[in-house]
Amino acid sequence: MKLVVASNNPGKLREFGQLLAPLGWETIAQKELGVPECEEPHHTFVENALEKARHASRVTGLPALADDSGLCVHALGGAPGVYSARYAGEPKSDERNNQKLVAELTPHADKRGHYVCVLVFVRHADDPQPIIAEGEWHGEIVSAPRGAGGFGYDPYFLLPEFGKTAAELDAAEKNRCSHRGLALQALIQRLQARRA
Ligand code: IMP
Repeated sequence: MKLVVASNNPGKLREFGQLLAPLGWETIAQKELGVPECEEPHHTFVENALEKARHASRVTGLPALADDSGLCVHALGGAPGVYSARYAGEPKSDERNNQKLVAELTPHADKRGHYVCVLVFVRHADDPQPIIAEGEWHGEIVSAPRGAGGFGYDPYFLLPEFGKTAAELDAAEKNRCSHRGLALQALIQRLQARRA
């Protein structure tokens, strides 16, 4: 299957490449096909992911896979949530986002947070039956960065069961248990069930 991946985030594109290559899917990043970045005007992951998938499919005429994801922190009422990429404003900066997150969490004893990933697959831009799958990954926010892998909030996202941050896991370990890895496994099962 040849499909366009509706993302310009290098971290996400790298992970999708690693996750989809074994399935023999040919993935093309939307930028390579001249798809301009699309607005993400909604307040939920699923609405934004659907918007991105339809947009990429409309421009390219290909099936499209979109991911809308983010970090939801309990003590902050679920923030930064759908606003994770631009938590500290424009231009997007992982470093400033992480500084803001640590500062906002300083007064709180509860450091729990979870990543959410919602994936949407559309066969064409007006697909009335998109395939939607979701994954969550639970951890805690730490105040000092650890590790050089991953992207975004990963150096501050501690997995107590590993005793490591997401940035200290190797790529295969992260893909096995991350919100994106789990969502993709669920999406693939649904795609296969639909074809059966
Ligand atoms: P989106 O492109 O609007 O979906 O923004 C997703 C944002 O959520 C990213 O820019 C990161 O800040 C954050 N995020 C999502 N998934 C991950 C991950 O696997 N690791 C670290 N940060 C992530």
